[in-house]
Amino acid sequence: MENQVIVGLEVHCQLDTKSKLFCGCSTDYRSDGPNTHVCPVCLGLPGAMPVLNKRSIEYALRVAKALNCSVLHESEFSRKNYFYPDLDKAYQITQYDKPLAEGGYLEIEGDEGGEKRIRITRIHVEEDPGRLVHMGNTERGKYSLVDYNRAGIPLIEIVSEPDMRSPKEARKFLNKLRATLEYLTVFDSEKEGSLRVDANISIKGSERVEVKNISSYKGVEKALLFEITRQKSLLRRGQKVDRETRHYLEARGVTQSSRSKEQEHDYRYFPEPDLRPLHVQSWVEGIILPELPDARRERFIAQYGCSLNHARTLTGELRLANFFEKVVAADPKGLATLADTWIADTLIGELNYRNMSVDAVDATGFEELLTLIMQGTITDKSGIEVLRVMLDQRLNNQSCESPSAIVNRLNVRKVSLSVNTGTQPGAGGNIDVDPIHTSITEVLNEHPTAVEDFRKGKKGAFNFLIGQLMKKTRGCADPGELNRLLTEELTKKEV
Ligand SMILES: [Zn+2]
Repeated sequence: MENQVIVGLEVHCQLDTKSKLFCGCSTDYRSDGPNTHVCPVCLGLPGAMPVLNKRSIEYALRVAKALNCSVLHESEFSRKNYFYPDLDKAYQITQYDKPLAEGGYLEIEGDEGGEKRIRITRIHVEEDPGRLVHMGNTERGKYSLVDYNRAGIPLIEIVSEPDMRSPKEARKFLNKLRATLEYLTVFDSEKEGSLRVDANISIKGSERVEVKNISSYKGVEKALLFEITRQKSLLRRGQKVDRETRHYLEARGVTQSSRSKEQEHDYRYFPEPDLRPLHVQSWVEGIILPELPDARRERFIAQYGCSLNHARTLTGELRLANFFEKVVAADPKGLATLADTWIADTLIGELNYRNMSVDAVDATGFEELLTLIMQGTITDKSGIEVLRVMLDQRLNNQSCESPSAIVNRLNVRKVSLSVNTGTQPGAGGNIDVDPIHTSITEVLNEHPTAVEDFRKGKKGAFNFLIGQLMKKTRGCADPGELNRLLTEELTKKEV
């Protein structure tokens, strides 16, 4: 096939253990100051000896089993030698020619429909390096700071075969992998930087390019799309693709050529003298896997009558699947059909819009909302209005009313709210356009710093202003409309 795209991924995931891979330092470092979760071992001070964290090997074995890999009879830690400021020891303890496990697969929904197997080459365990914080940006910043809190966090690297044929398949692979790791309770995708990806990408018949530094699974599809377009256009112009390493610049959505790639032998790997080889093959038998995404998807279809698409969406994230089952627990027969549509089609969109996690949604309140819709007390459309008020109250840390209380307060009985229907009978909570404009002006005057932050490009500032506005309009106005009017007002003032 002409111009066939070939993609393989190397995925680094932080294992969600309590302590680091070779010392007792806590891994819960994200909200603490720099260099507060460190000790002689993870700082690489002379004479410090690593002691392997058993739990991280158990976690890695769970992943190996779930990904259908064979665990090697003997695996080994090696030193990978190189200097970089985030690597205080000047070597990383990792695995090289004797990884923990090899030769598995993960099934995804392929581009051509049906299940497709992506082969897993190997899984190895290693320690995370520290983190550099560039003051200013990487090109013009004057200096960088280094934080070793992350140094020594257990990572697994999962290497796939080049079996993916499009950025979409790569995204599906990552989503499925993320879900699987979460179901295994060894990984928390909501922790910043817990998943990082390097991608190998080529057009059939040409050289392979490695794209490094993709720090989120959302960035992967974009980075691949950019890289495919770049390579195809080189080939179209009769030029050739160089074999090289490129970095993905997330903010600009482009890849950039970086230093020529070191060869594996440059790292002077040798077995880590302070750690014994691992013999953990016999542990695998004792591992009992929980229900994984595929099994849960099939169960959702059989038990609740979910459509294949909805079942896929709901089980594609552990939090979502758990939320669905919590909501329908009291009355599965009555609520399941409504709940699967409402969660998969409506709730996810509203959550994404607010950058909220489903964890923030009260399952009991959501169940009550669905019951009101099911009983015909309110229409679907009013249901959405009520849901928005519920989410905004939660987002702004306001006291949260029950759906019935919101329905009564706003008087939404089988009629829907809109911003300019002040004359609607009984719609006491409604307000018309002018008060909204007044509220916007007031909010902008009261929070000049947030307005400034918004102009500096901080997205959070906009959400904050919307929150203040919701408060002022007591949640009575349509968030979409408020959003539009606020944007209009902010861009107007800018000129
Ligand atoms: Zn330590």
